[in-house]
Amino acid sequence: RSGALSVAPILTNLQKDCATPLPVLRHVADAMEADMLAGLAVDGGSDLKMILSYVDSLPSGNEKGLFYALDLGGTNFRVLRVQLGGKEERVIATEFEQVSIPQDLMFGTSEKLFDFIASGLAEFALKEGGKFHLPPGRLREIGFTFSFPVKQTSIDSGILIKWTKGFAVSGTAGRDVVACLNEAMKRQGVNMRVSALVNDAVGTLAGARYWDNDIMVAVILGTGTNACYVERLDAIPKLQGQISSNGKTIINTEWGAFSTGLPLTVYDREMDDASINPGEQIFEKTISGMYLGEIVRRVLLKMAKDGDLFGSSFPEKLATPFVLSTPDICAMQQDNSSDLQAVGSILYDVAGVEANLRARKIVVEVCDTIVKRGGRLAGAGIVGILQKMEEDSKGLIFGKRTVVAMDGGLYENYPQYRGYLQDAVTELLGSDISKNVVIEHSKDGSGIGAALLAAANSKYE
Ligand code: ADP
Repeated sequence: RSGALSVAPILTNLQKDCATPLPVLRHVADAMEADMLAGLAVDGGSDLKMILSYVDSLPSGNEKGLFYALDLGGTNFRVLRVQLGGKEERVIATEFEQVSIPQDLMFGTSEKLFDFIASGLAEFALKEGGKFHLPPGRLREIGFTFSFPVKQTSIDSGILIKWTKGFAVSGTAGRDVVACLNEAMKRQGVNMRVSALVNDAVGTLAGARYWDNDIMVAVILGTGTNACYVERLDAIPKLQGQISSNGKTIINTEWGAFSTGLPLTVYDREMDDASINPGEQIFEKTISGMYLGEIVRRVLLKMAKDGDLFGSSFPEKLATPFVLSTPDICAMQQDNSSDLQAVGSILYDVAGVEANLRARKIVVEVCDTIVKRGGRLAGAGIVGILQKMEEDSKGLIFGKRTVVAMDGGLYENYPQYRGYLQDAVTELLGSDISKNVVIEHSKDGSGIGAALLAAANSKYE
């Protein structure tokens, strides 16, 4: 279009606004630490809820028997069964299934959603056989992983604070989600019991800890994001001495709600305004899989509207929120061909535009800018948690091997994101300390972790 601006200044401004040099990372890590302390001091003391998990014993390896896990966390729900054989035999057998959640259920009623889940669980339980054995007279016990902010009230109950990650189900907020599931199981004629309500980060930590005693932190980077860590009970002032032991527990930070000191752009603010939860989950909206593609889309739309990114053609399709997904931008960044063929075809499929080589290169730059910021900020958040733990127990974190268990589709599938996250951790900790800090993918640990926590909290032990 005549008079269109060059896209160069739009890109330059974006890169400037998204920059995460060391001082910015340090500020974010320090703010994370400060917000954690404030959230541990009093309920509501900070953006970070620092929720008690009521997990008072971490998996030991001695767990035995048949346990189920049910995981509701985003676009899918998963069901799993595991036969545990104790210290020697460990995991004798495991089976799982995944069911995608129909869009309309994400915006429907609580009953409909939980009925759908309970019936999926029932179908799965019917297929039990082979190496799986339940002693006579026992109910099947479930570890229920529920990855939304819950105010945990005991190991097997918790109240939904609010839906996130695009869910807007009516009638669940303020209710005990275990009761919601129990009622649905009753309606569906399923005779099983929930022994542990587990956040997915907590499940990941428990599952990874089963194999490795040095696991201290778990981080989820999928559709949304969260982190949890092993905390000393005597470092939780808001318990007000309710628990007078010097034991440990897991704290669920709900760090998606963090917001201090983040380098944000006009695109982030506009996306937030248009979201179903404006002003909330700002860290999540900057670093997690649900949003990275959408931020890129908003930048590209601006470059096409105000600039000449796609020449004179205007990409109508690109005006639709969320048409560009994080897997799309990930696929574009894996294109190593000289003419960026894959970038061209993804842009054609998603936005209906013919992009020339110059445009393709700019698009890849935009993806990289948003993904680099996301990965580096996630890394700074992890360092914030480690700093807090080290502060309480000098030398016990940075002075020995400490492992951060990572899971979630974004971390798993996006190599550039993973690399940027690791870079930020190494820059912040320095080369000596970062040798002791292992950031490690723990694949699908959360399912087994939830089953392990059901075992640890079994009604039959
Ligand atoms: P959830 O968080 O929905 O429970 P996952 O942990 O599997 O489930 O994460 C799914 C998310 O991971 C997707 O919403 C997407 O943002 C991200 N993701 C999945 N596949 C890819 C991919 N190939 N590249 C980048 N991100 C991906």
